[in-house]
Amino acid sequence: MAPSLHPLVDNGITKGDAYFPGGKLHCHCKTNPVEVTLGGNVLHNHACGCSKCWKPEGALFSIVAVIPRDQLSVTANADKLYIVDSSAAIQRNACNECGVHLFGRIEKEHAFKGLDFVHVELSDEKGWQEPQFAAFVSSIIEQGFNPTGIDEVRAKFKKVGLETYDALSPPLMDAIATYTAQKAGKLPSSL
Ligand SMILES: [Zn+2]
Ligand SMILES: [Zn+2]
Repeated sequence: MAPSLHPLVDNGITKGDAYFPGGKLHCHCKTNPVEVTLGGNVLHNHACGCSKCWKPEGALFSIVAVIPRDQLSVTANADKLYIVDSSAAIQRNACNECGVHLFGRIEKEHAFKGLDFVHVELSDEKGWQEPQFAAFVSSIIEQGFNPTGIDEVRAKFKKVGLETYDALSPPLMDAIATYTAQKAGKLPSSL
């Protein structure tokens, strides 16, 4: 049996709605779930193979997207949230009961500061932007995935129309590099 990449990828990608107005995310708690309200659709949604992103049971990849932080608010049971690793660039806010990550936030200087990281599968609503690519694919090997199966993983992504990368996608890597060059004074701060 082929490994599960993620439930939102395994059986093909469902296109999102360009005019989707946003909606609510919930953790997995049956009672008093943490609720996060997003005031718009997400951007740069992608599969991620890194070890830090929250992923559902049995999945090799997470599905993670960003949204401007001013469009995110915790609207119920905020007291259950804790920061998984406060030393990480992305501070992932998780539910202390079910372990689901509700959002990740960057507080230090970073190319993606101002964007929060979210998992739209935590929503019952349909229309969120579909995954656009697969990032950090080789990272699943570091977490114990047998490298002899990695071609099959890449082929599965290709089959549903997703390009695979071992870092972020080229436009996002370029954005990070541009930010780094601007910080170092090698590019003007406005481009
Ligand atoms: Zn929970
Ligand atoms: Zn990740």
